[in-house]
Amino acid sequence: MNESTRTLFIDGQWRPAASEGFFAVENPATLETLALVSNGSAADASAAVDAAARAFPQWSQTPPRQRARLLRNIADLLLDNKDRLAKTICLENGKPMAQAHVEVEFAAEFFCWFAEEGKRMRGEIVPSNFSAKRRLVFRQPIGVAVVISPWNLPLAIVARKVAPVLAAGCTCVLKPAEQTPLSAIELWKIFDQAGLPGGVANLVTALDPAPIGREFVEDDRVAKISFTGSVEVGRLLASGAGKRLKPVSLELGGHAPFIVFSDADLENAVEQLIASKFRNTGQTCLGANRIYLEAPIHDAFCERFAARVAAMPITGGLEDGALIGPLIDSAGFKKVERHVKDALDKGAVCLLGGKRAMVPGCEKGYFFQPTILKNIREDMLVWQEETFGPVAPIASFHTEEEVVRSANALRYGLSGYAFTRDLGRAFRLAEALECGVVGINDGVTPVPECPFGGMKNSGIGREGGWQGLDEFLETKYVTMAF
Ligand code: NAD
Repeated sequence: MNESTRTLFIDGQWRPAASEGFFAVENPATLETLALVSNGSAADASAAVDAAARAFPQWSQTPPRQRARLLRNIADLLLDNKDRLAKTICLENGKPMAQAHVEVEFAAEFFCWFAEEGKRMRGEIVPSNFSAKRRLVFRQPIGVAVVISPWNLPLAIVARKVAPVLAAGCTCVLKPAEQTPLSAIELWKIFDQAGLPGGVANLVTALDPAPIGREFVEDDRVAKISFTGSVEVGRLLASGAGKRLKPVSLELGGHAPFIVFSDADLENAVEQLIASKFRNTGQTCLGANRIYLEAPIHDAFCERFAARVAAMPITGGLEDGALIGPLIDSAGFKKVERHVKDALDKGAVCLLGGKRAMVPGCEKGYFFQPTILKNIREDMLVWQEETFGPVAPIASFHTEEEVVRSANALRYGLSGYAFTRDLGRAFRLAEALECGVVGINDGVTPVPECPFGGMKNSGIGREGGWQGLDEFLETKYVTMAF
């Protein structure tokens, strides 16, 4: 066990919490304690905002090319330390090592992308109707940004938010998820090593997020809140911020429809479904949650899919070849159990799995078998709420109109997928699905170059692309007479 009670990073210094308290981080595969980290409070959050506010004038004036050089250093250091970082992700989050390696590369890509985007914060000169007047539009960093991140991609989601903050010339405070603060601590060590000036990026680890969330909402020096997590907490933060007219970016999960038409390449659809559904043991906001199979291919697809999923190895994570790891914690495990039981009680048929998985050497871990359920009805919890686990619920459909109506029926709108060889139908689906990200014959969508985010209850704002930088910029119109 690694005992470190100085895990707050404020004003360029590692510090203990004001209370000197700490909390344990657990490996979800074994329930062993991995480390003790500082238990920050609202007072620590306020000190971190102080530091970020003091650092803002100088960082916002630092030339974009100089900021870009630092961001590229950070990307290089992430890749140089890939194995160590992947092991940290794997141990605290439970995702298999191969997926943890991909997460480190993905995180580095965000620093590379935003290093360059930061140089392109272009303004405008708008034609004037008066010869002695000029109309200018400036884009300027918004100020101190607060980032609150979840546990499911403990490095990459932080990178996706903090890289544009830094590229825009903003300063920030991160509060990482209490289940997975160790990846963020590693990232902050890299910031320090890369030479990021003190106060530009501050870190507050904490067990109880509520008082810190309130502090961020109420502190007028915080110009922006960027959050990824549940709809409930997103709503809470947005309503507090709304009272103070403080802008928010929210990424709140989804309930992705995954629609397979009879004319699709079924082999590709099965492989893409496996990637979409089981990556991170089903704990992703983009993952397929409602699988719609056109009636004529329903049985053949289920058979192929079940045969492939049955062969997926479940392990404690660090071993080579693992595809499925443990769920994040006891609450996550119980939610998956409750959703599966509800579906079975209401008449679903279990084609595979359905129970706790026993993994040798990890008997206490939160492992759930990869599960396939068919004969799903719309009133089942798996069809209404995010299960956030390795559960694939399947229903069949007969017409394009019927499936589009059903796919759009929920208040979620993050991602959706459709598989077809019919070009006209592909365009119709891409346009009709009410979600921010659509995959046509493609189950793996996120890249740093493209905007990612949701419609409806799935959120506000976009991450990645040039849009990701825009979330941390203000637009100022200047008229100049001479
Ligand atoms: P959560 O919303 O409770 O936690 C996400 C982050 O918000 C964490 O850092 C947490 O400490 C913080 N937080 C929680 N309450 C807060 C408050 N009152 N003020 C400020 N910050 C607060 O999510 P969870 O409990 O970890 O997961 C619950 C469900 O949320 C999951 O089952 C899943 O459906 C969804 N989820 C979605 C994503 C995503 O990628 N969109 C990620 C994680 C969880």
